[in-house]
Amino acid sequence: MLATGSRVFGTGTITGNLTNGGLVSIGDSTTGLMTVTGNYTQTAAGSLTTGIGGLAAGTQFDRLSVTGSATLGGTLNLALLGAFNPAVGNTFQILVSSASVTGQFATVTGTTIPGGKSFMVGYNAADVTLTVTSPLMAASTLGQDTVAGMPAESGESLSRERLQPLVDAAIARWSAAGLDAERLQFLRSVAVQIADLPGAYLGMAAGQTIWLDRDASGFGWFVDDSPDAAAEFHPVGLDRASQAIGGSQATGRVDLLTAVAHELGHVLGLEHSHGTDPYGDLMALMLEPDVRHVPTASDVDELLARCDVGS
Ligand SMILES: [Zn+2]
Repeated sequence: MLATGSRVFGTGTITGNLTNGGLVSIGDSTTGLMTVTGNYTQTAAGSLTTGIGGLAAGTQFDRLSVTGSATLGGTLNLALLGAFNPAVGNTFQILVSSASVTGQFATVTGTTIPGGKSFMVGYNAADVTLTVTSPLMAASTLGQDTVAGMPAESGESLSRERLQPLVDAAIARWSAAGLDAERLQFLRSVAVQIADLPGAYLGMAAGQTIWLDRDASGFGWFVDDSPDAAAEFHPVGLDRASQAIGGSQATGRVDLLTAVAHELGHVLGLEHSHGTDPYGDLMALMLEPDVRHVPTASDVDELLARCDVGS
């Protein structure tokens, strides 16, 4: 038992069960591998500090290897080391168990990565794996219809029942933009999760999973009851954007159809765009309340062009 206030630093092997109610910091000044030959239990008072300085497990980033089961709680502190700046899609298996992993860290610090990226913590049956994502961020509005930064009181919190029709509608929009049948089928297999994402995050994607923030970062979602029409929006900008008509249900809220279509774009292989339209476009890093983007033929062209690179 590692009591509150006590610490274990370094790499190597700890023989026997370890209950962490203090601080375990693998590697400390350098990265490495810590092995527990037994069960690892982290209590609500416990912290685990994991350094990440490269892609190689146990040498460039810290790994906790447990021969028994791992039961998690408390805090995970992530520390980027040196000038290492991981890329979107990089993964880091920071904890492995030969038996099972149960529970989750209640708090995770250090998830922010320079360049608008973030670590997403994934809990699997026998490991904990970090994935680098590039979240879609809520931006204050460009329009005059709403007050910048003011949450829409009537904006909607997300439920699974309300989300699924919008996922279907977003896939239909990708179909309308010309996406091929094989990729459309792939999109139907994507796992869509509702989560309480930190800060201004609206959504993120990694692998074949997308996450959407429960309350659109405080703005509330516009969950369109007729997502195949656009009665609440009128066109603005460079033919790729439309804006909520003042007083419509969409005003002051973040458009869920846009956010889902954006994250599906990542799953298809698109990265964030750097367009010149002040209203942004579907794959822009920021999404304003009031604004809708849908996939266009040029989005499909771009992802086909990406796939052609190097082939
Ligand atoms: Zn994005």
